[in-house]
Amino acid sequence: MKNNGNGGIRFSNGEQIPVELHKVRIVQKLHLKPIEERLKAIEDGGFNSFLLNTEDIFLDMLTDSGTNAMSDNQVSSMLQADDAYSGSQSYYRMESALREVLGKHYILPAHQGRAAENIISKVFIREGTVIPTNYHFTTTKAHMELNGAKVLEIYGDEAVKIKSNHPFKGNIDISKLNRVIAEYGAERIPFIRLEASTNLIGGQPFSLANMREVKKIADQHNIMIVLDASLIGENALFIKQREEEFKNHEIKDILLEMCDIADLVYFSSRKVTSTRGGGICTNDEEIYLKMRDLIPLYEGFLTYGGMSVREIEAMAVGLYETTDETVINQSPSFIKYAVEDLDKAGIPVVTPAGALGCHVDAMGFLPHVPQEEYPAGALTAALYIISGCRGMERGTISSERDENGDDILADMELLRLAFPRRVFTLSQTMFLIDRIKWLYENRELVEGLKFVHEPEVLRFFTGRLAPVSDWPQKLAAKFKADFGDSL
Ligand SMILES: *Cc1c(COP(=O)(O)O)cnc(C)c1O
Repeated sequence: MKNNGNGGIRFSNGEQIPVELHKVRIVQKLHLKPIEERLKAIEDGGFNSFLLNTEDIFLDMLTDSGTNAMSDNQVSSMLQADDAYSGSQSYYRMESALREVLGKHYILPAHQGRAAENIISKVFIREGTVIPTNYHFTTTKAHMELNGAKVLEIYGDEAVKIKSNHPFKGNIDISKLNRVIAEYGAERIPFIRLEASTNLIGGQPFSLANMREVKKIADQHNIMIVLDASLIGENALFIKQREEEFKNHEIKDILLEMCDIADLVYFSSRKVTSTRGGGICTNDEEIYLKMRDLIPLYEGFLTYGGMSVREIEAMAVGLYETTDETVINQSPSFIKYAVEDLDKAGIPVVTPAGALGCHVDAMGFLPHVPQEEYPAGALTAALYIISGCRGMERGTISSERDENGDDILADMELLRLAFPRRVFTLSQTMFLIDRIKWLYENRELVEGLKFVHEPEVLRFFTGRLAPVSDWPQKLAAKFKADFGDSL
């Protein structure tokens, strides 16, 4: 698939277009409702896109978690699922897939990624523990802190720059890592956490060269490497596309090398295999035994871990498909198309294009909205109102408050528009781009939000907000005037 390597197929005018390398065989009808109804839906949902009903959504770009399209082989594999509380053949098929694709022998199944984080945190984290990481993830940080850890992000300077051409913004800054170990002492650091395709800073990968360097230092201090592999396929693809040494390697070999460097690998199969579930794996029996007995307690018996056997079957097939470049390239090639088009139009988006989604910089988009009024939340609500496209706020609302009750202002205020694998077409992507461009021309109309109900933990999931003025009505009125109708 030479032509596909760069995120598309070359057209005769020289453009790389992300042609869908699959055909549609089952479809779901979508609803593009009039703007009046969308306005009411977002009000009912407390201006929080998590609280919308998909009945009111046109393109659901909230997340890639559990929303990727399954392949024909995955769906058909579900029919051969072997119902058994223990010893199910479905489980052994998944175990073989994990051994082959990730190269890890000992497997612990969990019902999703955060459940794996719970187990790992309970076993390896104590009061006073310090966890260096390239960047945190929401549920990861919550579990680690709940168990007493301090999470330190040791990314390089480029990581949180919106506009960059750094190929590996997810790298760990090696001098910061050395400093953290010197300052806190290796005995307080059970592991260094590396997140593949770093989610919260725009799906940005780390390089294998960086991973090897981190490993060298970790080995000197007898510290484990824990790899969050939820978006490992995309990270491997970027390594192939952007790291000279690997340009002729196969994805499967890059995956194996990444996992080989890590002592412990965990993942959300909601992302990595387009199914549900998750798991933890390692080649170290001692590490495995430390965690093993918590699985039946929190998840389910060792051969299902809270998943249905159907999901386990589909997960096994999905793991093998992750090594197929035409599968793994789907989402990044559409993201690249959207990011490059928006960037060309002068709209602030995170570059280079990463995994998971197109990330719009809300502070650049809405410079008149103070960060205390949640520009990324406001932009997410505004885009939904004018397009029916649902994104996710990844900024200060997704953060938390400090001991004094003040907001911890996020490094970046992003509107994330996820591209679940093989779900949306190019014309739908073009519709999204068109509406973002319209919104940018009318950005002065968008103002901020304030909390009216704020949960203490992970407030972004169920918190309710309200606009600081009647700006949503004004925005809707301008939309209707410009388009001459309500769609
Ligand atoms: C989604 C995600 C998780 C959590 O996984 P769930 O299956 O949603 O619980 C953990 N880490 C990363 C990097 C993720 O993207």
